[in-house]
Amino acid sequence: MNKNIKLAKHAGFCYGVKRAVETTKKLKSENKNKEIFVLGELIHNSHVINELSNLGIHTVDELPQDKTGVCVIRSHGAAPEVFENAKDKGYEVVDLTCLDVKKVQQKAIELVKDGYLLVIVGKPEHPEVCAIRANAEIYGKNIIVAPDVDTLKSYDEEIKKHKRIGVVVQTTQRIENLKNVVDYLLPMAKELKVFNTICASTSLRQTEAKNLAQESDLMIVVGSKKSANTTHLAEILTGITQTIHIETDEELDRYNELIKNAQNIGVTAGASTPDNIINNVMKKLNNI
Ligand code: SF4
Repeated sequence: MNKNIKLAKHAGFCYGVKRAVETTKKLKSENKNKEIFVLGELIHNSHVINELSNLGIHTVDELPQDKTGVCVIRSHGAAPEVFENAKDKGYEVVDLTCLDVKKVQQKAIELVKDGYLLVIVGKPEHPEVCAIRANAEIYGKNIIVAPDVDTLKSYDEEIKKHKRIGVVVQTTQRIENLKNVVDYLLPMAKELKVFNTICASTSLRQTEAKNLAQESDLMIVVGSKKSANTTHLAEILTGITQTIHIETDEELDRYNELIKNAQNIGVTAGASTPDNIINNVMKKLNNI
């Protein structure tokens, strides 16, 4: 019997990542004599980083002192001092912070300015979360970053000191995680203000993938294991059906038996997964 292999419609680059990759490439092609430096990986995908490097676009953790050129701020955003530092060093700054990430930063600033204890739901070490925190911190220090309720519990004493609590969430988080945090905070606050800042692209991708998983006996998530939104997708789908998370088609070989035994296979991909990687996975699956 033929297998049904379905690729989710919202798989691969989101508009923020697409804009960041396309604009950076365009910058280089229009400014061949200028050095282009991206602060941190433009997206969490080693294939794309290699491609940029081959075009002469440098990925760096710090801007070199002895050079000038263009400094690209990636879609995750950056702390205000990163912008200042780049300008002080003589770099021209091109800000490719995703507009959805900018919205989270604005909401976080608003809450801190209005005197709320700010709770940022997200991974403390993730660059997007670090930038949200850094932008809000200019206006006040009452900020807690927690990826989940268990971590939040360790801040119990501090939370109880505040009557007004404001919440924002990393754009790629799971809605279930936000709901758990809200349920936990609600009895502790006199006033709880929640901004659901999970971006539309993430919500759509997660909802569509969940629906596809309901009708599949195997789900394949394609994308970097360093990418937050891709790992969240895999976590969500694991609770619904058998799910594997691969970075490229080569990893499919390890799952030959699983794939052969599955009748309905669904495929989705994270926001930082390029089309050619998804296409290679689909080709290989169709040949198994
Ligand atoms: S995942 Fe959402 S917030 Fe992040 S870059 Fe894509 S569209 Fe923007």
